[in-house]
Amino acid sequence: MVNCWICGKTADSEEHKFKASDLKKSHGKKMNAFYINGDVIQINSFKDKILKFPKVICINCNNNLTRPHDDAYDKFVNFCFENHEEILKTRNINFEDIYGKNWELEKKNLYRYYAKHAGCKIVTANTEVDVKDLSEFIKGNNQVFDFVLQFELKAGVKALMNAFNLANKYNHLYNSATCKWNTNLSPKFGGWLTNNYTTVNWVFGKNINLNSVKIFKTKNEAVLITDSHFFDIDEEDENEEFSRVKFIDQYVVGFENGYNKSLEQKIGYFESLIRINNTK
Ligand SMILES: [Zn+2]
Repeated sequence: MVNCWICGKTADSEEHKFKASDLKKSHGKKMNAFYINGDVIQINSFKDKILKFPKVICINCNNNLTRPHDDAYDKFVNFCFENHEEILKTRNINFEDIYGKNWELEKKNLYRYYAKHAGCKIVTANTEVDVKDLSEFIKGNNQVFDFVLQFELKAGVKALMNAFNLANKYNHLYNSATCKWNTNLSPKFGGWLTNNYTTVNWVFGKNINLNSVKIFKTKNEAVLITDSHFFDIDEEDENEEFSRVKFIDQYVVGFENGYNKSLEQKIGYFESLIRINNTK
């Protein structure tokens, strides 16, 4: 048994990699979905083990402490889904539009939702990493030093969604692999979560965020747009039989990765997000 990385008590809760309500809402109880994790795996239930982290947090932290963070996340993804055309045009998210008067607290709680997700990914992969700054933030600290978020809209994913939704309801949830790289000081980690039209990139590393107090008081956040000009189909595959798995691998993963196909490119991208954050 390991201890909950947030509060230190016995970790007895299996947190979903995706929010369970997102999975139920989009797929119903009987799922017809694919999970991509290097391989493409078909899944039939939102309770599938592959959709959950191993037990790294406790039931109280998962159900009670972080409930307001989950609620902030729900409002955020619903807003972004309904307003994606506007977001694409303005390249901006206004948190007062999402949350109303309470936007400062709710914005912070949204960041805490992603901090929980990132922390679970990091400790699942590397239990010895010090995630105290994340856990203190989740427990109520008003600033965070080791964590950066950047919102993004991927034109390729949007095109894919628009095309798929012509025929039947398509819901796009994507949980990236966790990238780890070593710097002189300490390891850094990066990854992203996509819910339909909106990607949220996260980066973890010692003291990479000098600006969190200011950012939490800022009503507007810029949204990076990744176009789909990079995309070209592998010509050699033209005559091969079309398969769903191959399609998912080429298009969905291709559009999600954008210009950053290799690990080096991804690391470069995450490092650029740290720089962007510190000029905010
Ligand atoms: Zn706990």
